[in-house]
Amino acid sequence: MDTPLLIICLALVVVILASFSLPLLFRRRRHHSRGRLPEGHVMRKPSAYGVHSPKKIAIGRSPEWPRVAMEHRLREPACVACGYKGKHLQVHHIKPFHLHPQLELDPHNLITLCEARGREHHLLLGHLDAWNSYNEHVREDVKRFYKKSATQIRADLHWQKKMQLRP
Ligand SMILES: [Zn+2]
Ligand SMILES: [Zn+2]
Repeated sequence: MDTPLLIICLALVVVILASFSLPLLFRRRRHHSRGRLPEGHVMRKPSAYGVHSPKKIAIGRSPEWPRVAMEHRLREPACVACGYKGKHLQVHHIKPFHLHPQLELDPHNLITLCEARGREHHLLLGHLDAWNSYNEHVREDVKRFYKKSATQIRADLHWQKKMQLRP
């Protein structure tokens, strides 16, 4: 075996070894930081927060949205309609993005609502029970329906009327 061939063989072995060990190292390091910083892990997922579908962010949505949603969540960390503080929270646009794209990043157009089981304040108060509809008076309605369950809200005559007249 002559020298150039030997060098090429050695280089190949190095490349193969590196391609196997680097992803392993990387994975292990990520795993470690996740273990040490559980809160950091939550903070590193802003895109999962306030976006109905992760795919939607690519279509016309501002790259600033994850940051704005995170800042809103720091100001308003619980569901305004019940105080729920868990992972089933959404940063909801009071005036919807598809009708008012200029208000996408306006803090006054944002409200934190839950999708907690049995309450569904995002759907019932933010969208009046239809994801393609919305409720411009959600800030008033979260007070009126404070801590009410989904069943109680659906049984309320005032809410039913609003729901029938929803945009
Ligand atoms: Zn919403
Ligand atoms: Zn709630």
